[in-house]
Amino acid sequence: MRTLSNRLAVPLLLVLLLGCCHASGSTNETAARQWFEQFNLDLAVQRNLAVEAGWNYAVNITDENSRKRVEAELKLTEFLKLKRTEMQQFAWRNFTDKNLTRLFSKSDDIGTSVANATMQELYSSVRTRLATFYNTAKVKDPRSGDMVPLEPNIVAAMADPDVPQSVKRDFWVGWRDESGKKMKNDYEEFVHLGNAMIREAGYANLAEYWQSWYEPTSDFEQTMETLWTEFKPYYSLLHAYVRSKLRPHFGSEIFPLTNHLPAHILGNMWAQSWANVDHLTMPYPESWTVDITKEMLRKGWNSTTMFRVSEEFFASLGLGNMTDTFWAKTVMDRLPNVEMNCHASAWDFYTNEGDFRVKQCTSVTLPYLATTHHEMGHIQYFMQYEKQPVPFRDGANPGFHEAVGDTIELAVMTPEHLVKIGLLNSTIDSNEYYVNYMFLMALKKLAFIPFGYLIDKWRWSVFKGEVTPQQYNSAWWKLRCDLQGISSPVPRSEDDFDPGAKYHVPGNTPYIRYFVSHFLQFQFYEALCNKSGHTGPLYKCDFYQSKEAGDALKKMLAAGSSKHWEDTLEELTGTREVSAAPLIRYFRPLFDFLTEANKNSSEPLTWSSECPGDDWYTSTAAPPVTTAPPPQTTTSGSSGRLAGATWLQLSMAALLGALLSTLLTR
Ligand SMILES: [Zn+2]
Repeated sequence: MRTLSNRLAVPLLLVLLLGCCHASGSTNETAARQWFEQFNLDLAVQRNLAVEAGWNYAVNITDENSRKRVEAELKLTEFLKLKRTEMQQFAWRNFTDKNLTRLFSKSDDIGTSVANATMQELYSSVRTRLATFYNTAKVKDPRSGDMVPLEPNIVAAMADPDVPQSVKRDFWVGWRDESGKKMKNDYEEFVHLGNAMIREAGYANLAEYWQSWYEPTSDFEQTMETLWTEFKPYYSLLHAYVRSKLRPHFGSEIFPLTNHLPAHILGNMWAQSWANVDHLTMPYPESWTVDITKEMLRKGWNSTTMFRVSEEFFASLGLGNMTDTFWAKTVMDRLPNVEMNCHASAWDFYTNEGDFRVKQCTSVTLPYLATTHHEMGHIQYFMQYEKQPVPFRDGANPGFHEAVGDTIELAVMTPEHLVKIGLLNSTIDSNEYYVNYMFLMALKKLAFIPFGYLIDKWRWSVFKGEVTPQQYNSAWWKLRCDLQGISSPVPRSEDDFDPGAKYHVPGNTPYIRYFVSHFLQFQFYEALCNKSGHTGPLYKCDFYQSKEAGDALKKMLAAGSSKHWEDTLEELTGTREVSAAPLIRYFRPLFDFLTEANKNSSEPLTWSSECPGDDWYTSTAAPPVTTAPPPQTTTSGSSGRLAGATWLQLSMAALLGALLSTLLTR
């Protein structure tokens, strides 16, 4: 990796040489504007090259494409560091034009890229090792004895109602043994390095840096905690109700006395969505007999139909159609005869010529129809803020970007809209019918919220040193038990590293954006419903074809990150705060139903803030025998254990992290 060191040495030298001018820079704003204009053009070109290389690799994973991608990333890093140094000729913090100051401030933020080449190399190396553990993990299928990957095999088994819970439990344990458990030492090193690097950019630690993207006007962590506290009583209603349905089905013996839900029976490896236990928990099963996925298949829908339906909704609001380049270059289906990354994502190519693309391996199902709208929401954001200078071509905050497509999804999934697009024959105007509908939305959206909160709550504590490496796993489980109300099916210890079993932890993708977006999307939805003149219950609102709603949405999207998000939010919704109130209004009839249903069950509304004790595990049926190998020891700071090609393949994310506009699904 000598190349890396040499390439980064020159900009580093410039930083050292020019560092002198920072305090006494020029306040000549005309000169600064001229400098910025050229920088903006060059930045678009540099980003385009890096995104192109990243895309080529993602849709065709070869050593050659990997090498090109790493080269492009290094070039972009060099460019950013060089320009950041040049910027220091201006005292941009003191400009009278605050818009210009904001442009410079955003350009100045290049994250851990400010650090020296040696650290970059170590950081890349450790992040590559973490990603490799996750991406290459395979687990023994307890039924066949075959070694199988997470996707599609294990994900499908966890979701399948016909797979016995003991098999799910073995997969649950096996996945954590083969992924997270191997990462603990490397994660500790990653935290140490990341913090050291971001300190060079003036932040106390990575937590402070990540939170800075929200430009907090008060204590950000307290704001998130307040949101959670406001929402928790409603989550408790859902939790107790689902527990009352699952306990008789699975048998009381697997439910701890602490009233936690066993983590492995909720239809999802992380219990982050409970949508796959709908058949066991539906309030009025006799009032909900339609299967939308079957209807999509019966009508001959394919991936193109799904993208066209999504496009048509946005177009009906007066937002533009997808561009010609989008249709020419988007990858909607798994490509034949190549290795590709199927994780759904949306890409901005910074061309000013409408080059935006989605990459996903669509299956014709209702959940994928939602995913298609989610990704197209990102594309609409890209399209609407395309004319902004590059540093403003971003969401008002990261939660905004995630919320756009989900807002549209709330309208599209209404039974009223499903009738309009031919997926339902008619709606039934009964209370039971709509309670079922809201319940399905709740299993997906409300069940997610504590999970969306706890991942970064844990990481902030780790980055700040409040949780030490000796407490990594117990601190994780403290949050899983307390907030989410779920417990492990087997005892856990500090030999395990369960945070590492979730993609975004080894992948170093911040997660609080999804928590924020789950509140924001109901705020956006309610505001757009009001603009469209909707009357009646919020959950029935479909603002399809409303130009008034479209104009308001368009205005918000077009602003990009040019203003503080509180200003952007206020313009659309009249409030400057992320609020749980619209979500609570939306689900009110469901909450009333759950309150009554819980009164008639013996399930308590609360669960212990502490995980079940070891005594509970030893008193229950024998836990599964796991035959996991001991965690591998790693050579600190070295990529020597990985073949060169593997290292190259996986190091793009490690180099630039959040700087590129590639937006992943949660
Ligand atoms: Zn997304």
